[in-house]
This record gives sequence, C-alpha cells and structure tokens, in this order.
Amino acid sequence: MRVAVVGGGIAGLAAAWELTSRPDPAEVTVFDPGPLGGRIQTEPFLGHRVDTGADAFIARVPEGIALAMELGLDEELVAPAARRALILVGGRLRPLPEGLVLGAPARLRPLLASRILSPAGMLRAALDLVLPTTTWPEDPSVARVVGTRFGAQVAERLVDPLVGGIHAGGTERLSAESTAPQLARAARSHRSLLLGLRALPPPPDGPLFLAPRAGMGRLVDRLVEALGERGVRFEALAASGIVGEKGGRVVVEPFGAFDGAVVATPAGVATDLVLHGAPGASDELRSIRSASVVLATLAYRRSDLAVPEETSGFLVARGEARLMTACSFGSAKWPHWSDHDTMVLRVSAGRAGDERALELSDDDLVDQLQRDVAGALGTPASPSHWRVNRWREAFPQYEVGHRARVERIEAALRRDLPGVALAGAGLRGSGIPACVASGRHAARALRGRTSGT
Ligand SMILES: Cc1cc2nc3c(=O)[nH]c(=O)nc-3n(C[C@H](O)[C@H](O)[C@H](O)COP(=O)(O)OP(=O)(O)OC[C@H]3O[C@@H](n4cnc5c(N)ncnc54)[C@H](O)[C@@H]3O)c2cc1C
Repeated sequence: MRVAVVGGGIAGLAAAWELTSRPDPAEVTVFDPGPLGGRIQTEPFLGHRVDTGADAFIARVPEGIALAMELGLDEELVAPAARRALILVGGRLRPLPEGLVLGAPARLRPLLASRILSPAGMLRAALDLVLPTTTWPEDPSVARVVGTRFGAQVAERLVDPLVGGIHAGGTERLSAESTAPQLARAARSHRSLLLGLRALPPPPDGPLFLAPRAGMGRLVDRLVEALGERGVRFEALAASGIVGEKGGRVVVEPFGAFDGAVVATPAGVATDLVLHGAPGASDELRSIRSASVVLATLAYRRSDLAVPEETSGFLVARGEARLMTACSFGSAKWPHWSDHDTMVLRVSAGRAGDERALELSDDDLVDQLQRDVAGALGTPASPSHWRVNRWREAFPQYEVGHRARVERIEAALRRDLPGVALAGAGLRGSGIPACVASGRHAARALRGRTSGT
C-alpha cells in the first residue's frame, strides 16, 4: 500500500508512524514544504535549546507519553520545575487558587481567599449552589456554561484566561463540549456546576506536563529519524490538490496516484486541498476559523528581574488592557533553558479577534511586551536579548457546533474521497497528544477502509 502523508507536523508524522507499523507496513512518503514538526520547533537561544512554539505536552492524555516511549525517549522526559501559576487581575498578580477545574471553582473558600473576585462577584459565584437546574442547549459556549452558573467575573477573570488562553480564542464562541468537556459534563450531571466539578474523578498523581529535556523538537527529530529507518521518504514539497480516482485511489497533485492519503495540514490548507475532490467537506472545513499568536522570547539579567518563587508564569485576565495574554517564566519552568545569571521569559500576544500584535514590527512588539511585563512584575528592566516567533493561523477555533461539524466533514470525505483521511489540530484537540492520536486514528481508518474495499 502506497500512502501519501500531506503535512509533516506531529499529526502527519504520527500517521506515518502508525502506517509503517508492523504487521503490514505501508510505503509512505511525507510531503511538507516547511520544517518538519510544523508548530513544534526548538531553536538555539543564547546557547540553549528553547522552544519557539509548544514547550510541553499534557501527560494525562496517554498518546503523547506512549509515542515518546515507543521512540525510546521516556528517560529524556522532564516535568516543569515550577508549577504555581498566577493571574493578572486589576493590575495585580494573584496566585490562582486551589480547586479550579479549567478556571471554574470546585471549592469556594480558596477562591474567596484569592481575592480575584470582587465581593459581589464572589456572592454571584456562590449563587450557583442555590440556583435552579439550567437547561442547556446541545453545545453551549464555555462562557455560557460558566456565566450562567457562576456569573461574569468567574467567566472573565478565571475561565476565559485559561480556556481562552489554551485556544487563543474567546470563550463566548468556544464550544464547551469541545474545549472544556469536564465543565460540560459537570454542568449536565448536577444542578450545581460547583458540585458537579467536585464530583469529577480526582486528577491522577504525577506531573501534568512533560517535555524532552532537549525541547519538543527532540520528539520530532527522533520521530523523523525512526521513520527514516522504516524507509519513509520525506519530500520538501507542497501538495496543491487531492482528487479521487476509480477504485478509491487518490491523486495527490502534483505528485501522482497513491492507494491512500492522510491530510494532516492546518484546516485552512485542507479546505483548498479537497476543494474539487470533496466539495462538501471543503465547505465545512472552511468554517473552522484559526487565530494567530506571537510568542516573544525575552532574556533578562536575573538580578534585574524579581519573579515570584516556584512559579511557572502568569495569565492575563480579560479587560486588563495589555497586549500580552500570558507570560511564562521559561527558566523557572525549564532551568536548562538558561545560565544561572539569565532569566528567559516567553510572552504571548494575540488571539481570535485581536491581531494587534501581528501588525507591529518586531521592535515595536518587543518594546510593548516588555513594558507589559515590566508593569506586571513591577520592574523597570529591559531584556538583553530577544526573539520573536509569529504563528499565523495556528490555533483552530473550536466554536459552538464544532464536534458536529467535524463529524459532517468526515462523513463527506468518506463519501467523496474514501481514500483520504484527515488528521491534525483542527479536528478533535489541538494539544500534541490529541494531534498524535488523530494522526494514528486517521492511519488506522485509512488502512481499514482500503483493506475493506
Ligand atoms: C505558540 C504555540 C504554542 C503551543 N504550545 C503548546 C503546548 O505547550 N503544548 C501542546 O500540547 N500544544 C501546544 N501548541 C499546539 C500544538 O503545537 C499544535 O496544535 C500541534 O503541534 C499541531 O500539529 P499538527 O500536525 O496538527 O499541525 P502543524 O504543526 O500545523 O503541521 C501542519 C504541517 O502541514 C504543512 N503544510 C501546510 N501546507 C501544506 C501543503 N500544501 N502540502 C504539504 N504540507 C503542508 C505545514 O508546513 C506543517 O508542517 C502550541 C502551538 C503554538 C502555535
């Protein structure tokens, strides 16, 4: 079986890994004009390997660790050295209280003590315990679930920075089922959302996040190396279209005919690729919007910067009138990212509907972000070195109705292009383990379909 994998991000590479697994390995070519790994890149910064995009994967979704183990990387995985997170609210940094699930409280006392909410906001949050049952639509937005039960302050000051931050989007549009399934489940299973959250199974012990010590790029490098050993070919070329042939085979333009193809590009690219072969799927893919973000890596002299102890960074609540959306204390999280006298921060900006950061020059952007950081940390220091990475259309927006849309896309594709399977961040999770799972799932689906016909 000859298979083309279009897109060599982690989803496409995982698809190639699955396709070349025994007992019946396929002959695979991966096409990608960009650097392999897509959004996962690690580049030197002041002599250390520092990620330019993703810097870790969540350990609770098993496909990330499983792949690392298959590649023999398990001994190289490290957990962040700092875990405590803060939130910038009302111009002040405050620790995130215990007992939050994606920003929503499962306990009131720590929330009260955190003083993140005003007294009125706190009372409104507590009302959840006595409000009557809410009847939810099929797929409410995250803001609707949280706002209805806990009020606007919990939605804007806690859940939006967390869930909206993960997806670079606004929780008024993001689907609760697709981006915060724990909240959706808790809201449906109990009258009170707080009690529903309290009833969720406790998180397993162990680190929440992991990464290879040499950066996330190490996972990609090792995977590419292992795929090479299995005979996978890599072509630094872009596909321009995919159409069906008789007997379920597919033509990947301009490369020729294959027994099957996995399309693991961003959703916007997949829209164009399947336009002629599967117009219905293409139409639905087009409506998955994506947000762009900018990530600035800033190096400071450690003596110039006072960052709170054992803290991984801070999120910025909505309405703080800053360009930055989050600041990660890189060297506190990953001590191997810098020398003892240097502190590396990674500052993010941009989200769906806010493209200000993308429009600024690198110099202006760094200037603005460093002022945001200085304001939050109360330090006048400026960075000695910096690097800017622009990630355009990198965060697919799982808006209300997303899950049903993905099902329609897959059904249309099965009907019109049965030799093609989709994978990647646009579908069922944009975290790295979810992308690995989607690549492997697409490979298995393709194998099942082509062997079944
Ligand atoms: C700044 C940033 C920080 C992040 N942080 C984290 C994190 O800490 N943890 C986490 O789990 N996730 C994180 N993510 C999300 C995660 O990195 C991505 O969702 C994931 O890597 C996407 O993988 P993918 O394979 O689906 O897509 P991509 O990585 O986008 O890969 C798609 C590939 O398709 C290629 N392509 C495009 N057009 C064509 C074409 N015509 N022909 C052939 N190939 C084509 C591209 O060159 C690209 O390599 C972050 C993302 C960003 C941008």
